[in-house]
Amino acid sequence: MINRRILLLLALTVVLLLSACAAPFPPARQQAPAALETAEVPSAAAASAGGDSSAGNGSGEIPEFDGENPYVVVNGNEPFFSPGELTSESYETYSGLDPLGRCGPAEASVGRDLMPTQERGSIREVRPSGWRQATYDFVDGGALYNRCHLIGWQLTAEDANAGNLITGTRYLNVQGMLPFENLVADYVKETGNHVLYRVTPIFAGDELVARGVLMEAESVEDEGEGVQFCIYAFNVQPGVEIDYQTGESWLARADSGSEEPQLYILNTNTGKFHLPSCASAVDMNPANREEVRAPRSSLLQDEYRPCGACQP
Ligand SMILES: [Zn+2]
Repeated sequence: MINRRILLLLALTVVLLLSACAAPFPPARQQAPAALETAEVPSAAAASAGGDSSAGNGSGEIPEFDGENPYVVVNGNEPFFSPGELTSESYETYSGLDPLGRCGPAEASVGRDLMPTQERGSIREVRPSGWRQATYDFVDGGALYNRCHLIGWQLTAEDANAGNLITGTRYLNVQGMLPFENLVADYVKETGNHVLYRVTPIFAGDELVARGVLMEAESVEDEGEGVQFCIYAFNVQPGVEIDYQTGESWLARADSGSEEPQLYILNTNTGKFHLPSCASAVDMNPANREEVRAPRSSLLQDEYRPCGACQP
């Protein structure tokens, strides 16, 4: 399993330089990023495979969140499955926790027979690595973290399986992963076919909170005609900074020294500006809504004021 994880990470590194979008995407509001070549990343966040201390630092690179796209396409959207892995027999496998208590890859050949037939059970007793809950009023539901299923509950009906739950942001859960889970679930329900599906949490070094997840899927009976993707979704929450080592978090303050242009949502009626993730920005009357990419100071010069909730 460790070998496979290293392979995945290496592949992730290599393909970032080569990738281009290809296959069908869920109708997410966010489009697949246009310029994936730019996903060539600083090596600061070097990946290492969980439990393999020799990997240490610098064996791979993890894509960096650009502030807008909840995921990037990896390997030209081609999963890293070997041909022999595709099977029309349903199965599901979960990794044991590593010595740091972290999850590894979870894989399933998802068929209708694995899908839920009963009510959802409680998962509250599971405490994933890096679980330090915090609340922010601009996060949907308030809580920063969800016990985030690697393989979504709607696919394999796993409740309190510690090998399938990571500390994931609300943003990862809803914006990053859910559209892809829905794609798989809808396809399996409609066709009765199988989808080979694997989700791998990517940790940097010995950090307890995953930086993101690699999600791979390929429909079995039609060899990827129906569903195929290979993406990396970011475990981030816009407006919040996370210490991935421990899971602690704090409000991101726009660094006053930083004059990098950033995407803001203006309310031309109230004169406030917001982060794109702010609930007020999401719910804003389109007639008053304006997107700008500008340095923060230029908005202040234009007499816009920062929203008190998202504190852009
Ligand atoms: Zn706001």
